[in-house]
Amino acid sequence: MHRITVFGGAFLLAVCFVGLLPEAVCIQELHGSEASVSLWPFLAVLVGFLVQQVLDGISAHAEHGHTEEGFTLTGLMIGLSLHALLEGMPIVGVDGTVNWGLVIGIVIHNIPVALILVGLMTARGMGMGKVLLLLTLFALMTPIGSLLEVLVLQPEGLWRCVIVGVVVGVLLHVSSSILFDHKRNHFSWLNLGIIVLAFALAMLTIH
Ligand SMILES: [Zn+2]
Ligand SMILES: [Zn+2]
Repeated sequence: MHRITVFGGAFLLAVCFVGLLPEAVCIQELHGSEASVSLWPFLAVLVGFLVQQVLDGISAHAEHGHTEEGFTLTGLMIGLSLHALLEGMPIVGVDGTVNWGLVIGIVIHNIPVALILVGLMTARGMGMGKVLLLLTLFALMTPIGSLLEVLVLQPEGLWRCVIVGVVVGVLLHVSSSILFDHKRNHFSWLNLGIIVLAFALAMLTIH
């Protein structure tokens, strides 16, 4: 399972830089003829980083494929759900195309997360029906995020770039925490191979 976590983290890191960051570049018309790149989406990356820092506190690192001490299942569900809602937002581009690289990255990185959730819920004596219900709720958050972006927010221009920026910050936090976790992710050639493979496959799905 640790290998899937590392693969998912590396895949998302590549999607961030190659698939999402270029979308956060917004050219703004300033003073009539002058055009420049807006800095707001890049500030939004830092905001997204802070957002995930807080979400990590609530969800006890479950996004990283492990959990820290002292969490509640409610907090875990809330942290994970907010995160899933956010990461679903940039899936559909302004032209209506689906960012499949991001979709695949999210699905792979959510395999260990879902396994952790099921493990924790059953360990606390939750019935199978309730476990399935909560898992379905969690799985729905990402498509709900996409729907919100397309139907409700209808972001155009700068706003969309800012949202993409926030999600880049969130995903950078998650993927770098996974890859640079000294306690769990020791250097090994196999690990490096998995990371390079994830980068290459992410690149292939994006272009
Ligand atoms: Zn962690
Ligand atoms: Zn995620």
